[in-house]
Amino acid sequence: MDTALCLAWFEEAARLVHRDRDRLTALDAAIGDGDHGANLDRGLTEVGKALAESPPGSPAETLLTVGTTLIRRVGGASGPLYGSLFRQMGRTLGSPATLAAFASAFDEGVVAVERLGKAALGDKTMIDALVPASRALSLAVRDGVGVLQAVEQAARAAQEGAEATIPMQARKGRASYLGERSIGHMDPGASSSALFMEALAAVVRR
Ligand code: ADP
Ligand code: MG
Ligand code: MG
Repeated sequence: MDTALCLAWFEEAARLVHRDRDRLTALDAAIGDGDHGANLDRGLTEVGKALAESPPGSPAETLLTVGTTLIRRVGGASGPLYGSLFRQMGRTLGSPATLAAFASAFDEGVVAVERLGKAALGDKTMIDALVPASRALSLAVRDGVGVLQAVEQAARAAQEGAEATIPMQARKGRASYLGERSIGHMDPGASSSALFMEALAAVVRR
């Protein structure tokens, strides 16, 4: 991954989140406070501004700016959580940013989210999309598949992970206050995580 690809990733993520803003908000309205689409849309707009103001010189720098901006600019649980994901990735990603390096940085990022949010698989959070995506990337590296196939498998795993949150009962975040009434809805953060992976696959495909 080079700097241009990393910048394109977050431009595409901003586009997809903006496109799906109302859908994400509706998901959050069902089991949370209805601000997830707005939170992320605003956060990624700020990310675009920050990256334009001080153009990063590497994928790692890009990720650090993305993470810091999300932590500063997004109120709500998802800001610090996504912020930690991308900041930890930025701290870990060496150069050259090969697929193996990217997969391992992504894994470290997901661990940082787990540490901050204390959520595990099955708690109906973004973790349920991020962990399958991370596993898919690691398997792709192990099997030596190409970059495009790797990110497409990660995007698919994240989407399946997001769909798998529908029958779950939330054990973390606002949705957990609903108890059994959280069952039957997709977790908004898992859905936005799937969008981040879809954005990555889309820019690699270009
Ligand atoms: P808020 O709930 O503060 O309004 P958002 O609506 O932006 O924040 O984000 C909600 C999403 O954040 C949830 O759908 C879930 O995926 C994620 N989330 C909330 N708490 C946690 C946690 N402790 N660990 C991991 N993810 C979490
Ligand atoms: Mg919310
Ligand atoms: Mg909120």
